[in-house]
Parts: sequence; structure tokens; C-alpha cells
Amino acid sequence: MTIDSSSFEALLAAARDIVLISHFNPDGDAVGSVTAAYHYLKSRGKEPHIILPSPYPESMAFLEPEEAEGRMTICEQDSEKARRLVRGTDLIICLDLNRLSRTEYLEQDILSARAKRILIDHHIPAELERFDLAISTTEVSSTCELLYWILRSLPDVAGDPARIPLRCAESIYVGMMTDTNNFSNSVFPGTFEMAAALIARGVDKDAMQEKVLHCYSVSRTRLMGHLIKDKMTLVTRHQAAYMLLSNKEKERYCFKPGDSEGFVNLPLAIGSVRISALFTENAVGNYIRVSLRSKGNINVNRLANRFFNGGGHRNAAGGRLYIPLDEVPAYFEKALDEWPDEEKFS
Ligand code: 5GP
Ligand code: MN
Repeated sequence: MTIDSSSFEALLAAARDIVLISHFNPDGDAVGSVTAAYHYLKSRGKEPHIILPSPYPESMAFLEPEEAEGRMTICEQDSEKARRLVRGTDLIICLDLNRLSRTEYLEQDILSARAKRILIDHHIPAELERFDLAISTTEVSSTCELLYWILRSLPDVAGDPARIPLRCAESIYVGMMTDTNNFSNSVFPGTFEMAAALIARGVDKDAMQEKVLHCYSVSRTRLMGHLIKDKMTLVTRHQAAYMLLSNKEKERYCFKPGDSEGFVNLPLAIGSVRISALFTENAVGNYIRVSLRSKGNINVNRLANRFFNGGGHRNAAGGRLYIPLDEVPAYFEKALDEWPDEEKFS
């Protein structure tokens, strides 16, 4: 992929303090893209700061900047500092989100900041006009991959992956690896090209897998078994399956952020299942987090838009429901009944 990054380079060159922001409930691509950008900008002598709206999985702590203390702010833990950083910076780069509301707390602060705003994202575009520069395409596996192609096109990297700092390369690899479910979905020819180049650069792909994908507790694996065995309901008329995860179960299985990563994909291993949903009670109990996955030409982004206050991609989307957990099964089945075919297969 070739990218004209001259406007990006101009905005970077003019900025010293740069704030990198990603979405609420940060996943591997969110943490990967902000830390990759951090490591690159640091190598250019910039002063980057990372802001994440809520905590991220412990397994990704190894991607953090060495000087993480003070450089990485979790809004839910220190919202005053997050807001001060947004107000004071020269440049804000939002990564892996297509709406500022995905930052949960910072939409208005970002809009009223004096800084220029850049978007780097791979979702279906939604708010491009809110940015001074938006680099957005759905033709990549992940925001991390898009960032890789941008970095390659910058004058100091000049197409040579060996000039990308190793820690930046590792972060990019992790974001791609998690968003593609380790090369099983949203993989483009360029994704393999990038992976090959990153491995040649020195990324240890087995180590990345060990740290991020094979790092869970016994209780997390038992929770996975419990959900599949006791909590999975099949809606055969719609080739769908869904699971509910309550706060009580989270407590029983010592649930930590990131523990349910990948659960929603499991029912898709069944030949007759083409849509899978996971409904998770929020810790505070004020909403249900919705995760949707599909196979082939079924567009769950449209399902998330219409029924679940959310969005995402064709085969992976998410959103929220503001009803009690025990009302979710009827709501989901009714949504599937009412979902028009022209949206489903759009
Ligand atoms: P996950 O199921 O892994 O949480 O999310 C899958 C995809 O849906 C991700 O690409 C994510 O960006 C998107 N997504 C998840 N939750 C939301 C949400 O609340 N709103 C929107 N617009 N997208 C979401
Ligand atoms: Mn992503």
C-alpha cells in the first residue's frame, strides 16, 4: 500500500508535544497503535503522551514506554491529567476509532483543544470532518497495519522497515495479530507483506504470541468452558449463537480486563453458525457490552448500528444495550427476526 503522507509529516514536524488517544476498553490494536506511534515519535525526539480512556489487559504492559510513569494516562484513573494533556498539546492523534465518542470521556475536550487533530483508523469512516487530517481505510487488517504503511512512507523511514524502531515494530505486530485473531480474519496480501517485513526487522512472533495470546489464567479458561457448555444458546432459524456473561460469573471466575477476548469467536467454529454474539454485563451494571461476529457476507456492523448503539466492521462489531441482562435473549432474537435482508447482506 502506498500512502501520501506529506501532510502527516508536515503536522508532525510542526509539533513537539503530541497526545495519542485510542478507544474505551482498549484492545490489542488500540494499545498496539498508540504505543507504536509513541515509540516512533520518541525516536524522532518528540514528547508524546498516551491517553487511554479505560484500563487495558495486563498482557500488553510489555508494549508500554519504559518511562511509562507519567507518559501513559488512563482517563478513568486520572481524568484531570488526561484533560490537562489534551488542552495543552500541539497535536492530537486519534487511533483505532471512527467517532470521538469512542473515547467515552474526551470528545468535548478534544474538540475544544487548540491542537491540530489527526485520525488514523480502519473502521468505516464516520467523522472525518472533525479532523485536520484523516487517514482512514478499511482495506487493511488493523490500525497498526495502516500506521505501518504510513511510517514506511515517511522521509526518515524511506520505505526501509529496518529504520522502524524495534519496540514500535513489536507494537504494530501485536495490534495486527490481535485484530486478525492471529491471521484468521481481515487479512489482506499487504498484511502478510508487513508481517514478513516486521519479522525480518527482528520481531519475535512466537514471543508476541506467548505474551499476548497464551498468557491467561486457569480461571479464564474455565470461564470459557462454562460459557460454551452452559451459556451458549443457538438460534437455528438465523444460524446464530449467543452467550451471556453476568457480573456474578465474572466474580466467580476472577475476571480481569481482556479475559473475554476471543470468546465471541468460538461459536463460529460450528459449521452451521454464521452469527455469534457475546453480551457482557458492565462492572457497574449500567449497560450490557455487545460483541458481534459473523462469517462471509453477513454485515454485523449494520446489526450493531440498528439495534445495539454501536458499529465496527462487516465481520466484527460491537455496541451497548441499556436493558437488564435477562431481557437480552428476547431482544436479540427479535432483532434478528426484524433485521432486513438488504442490511444483513449489504
Ligand atoms: P469487540 O467485539 O472486539 O469489542 O469489538 C469489535 C469491533 O467493534 C471493534 O472493531 C470495535 O471498534 C467495534 N466496537 C466495539 N464496541 C463498539 C461500540 O460501542 N461502538 C462502536 N461504534 N464500535 C464498537
Ligand atoms: Mn482495530
